[in-house]
Amino acid sequence: MAEPIIAIDGITKSFGAFKVLDKLSLQVMPGEKLALIGPSGSGKTTILRILMTLERIDSGHIRIEGEELYHMPKNGSLVAADERHLTRMRQKIGMVFQLFNLFPHMCVLDNVTLAPRLTKGTPREAAEKRAMDLLDMVGMSAKAKAMPAQLSGGQKQRVAIARALALSPKIMLFDEVTSALDPELVEEVLNVMRKLASETDMTMLLVTHEMGFAHDFADRVLFFDRGRIVEEGKPDEIFRNPKQERTQTFLRKII
Ligand code: ADP
Repeated sequence: MAEPIIAIDGITKSFGAFKVLDKLSLQVMPGEKLALIGPSGSGKTTILRILMTLERIDSGHIRIEGEELYHMPKNGSLVAADERHLTRMRQKIGMVFQLFNLFPHMCVLDNVTLAPRLTKGTPREAAEKRAMDLLDMVGMSAKAKAMPAQLSGGQKQRVAIARALALSPKIMLFDEVTSALDPELVEEVLNVMRKLASETDMTMLLVTHEMGFAHDFADRVLFFDRGRIVEEGKPDEIFRNPKQERTQTFLRKII
């Protein structure tokens, strides 16, 4: 039996008095494609941000490839060893955000090469060669020298995907990556994600309101409500025959 690449064990996270995640556990196997669905505010994005180490957990454990993601310093402050550990762990994971977050003052190519050059010390030439391959994969190599402001939302998002891939992560996180796009630009981004899902063995976690895409993309769908996974299963089970009342109500509203 293979080991999970992500093992989340009883994590809790509150913002002030509001408990966003409530003793949540989840195991993800290498190469698995997961879709996280559920009402707004149910904690889906928070999980991705925690995995990306953009938020810390209050309690529980997360192991990535068997290794603890967070060393929990006793006094609550990060020490240098923790920072080094986090930097190394972060390289296993890439994330694409709803609002692209490209560096506005850098051209497309520099956006994609920055992380490998800074965090891995990859020489410029090698980083640019790899970046051009990635831009080619997302259909953006012709725009390598363009600035983000010159691109459409769909083009920005494809560059953001190439940038997240530049560190060759084993795990990719996609947070509502099409929800800020004009409808006619959604498909070009979904096509890139379809290609990634079918041509690579990366583990992928996707938060989405695109139920049709979630159905086609995912091996497993997780339905979230109020910081818990209420129901999970294969796409056909969840979308055609949800067992929980809350899942049924949500899907009736959204589809
Ligand atoms: P979802 O992705 O399912 O819509 P989120 O994980 O984004 O849910 O958010 C869960 C809840 O936590 C929301 O009510 C949100 O307002 C709140 N929240 C998220 N991030 C923060 C933050 N940094 N500070 C305070 N509240 C937050």
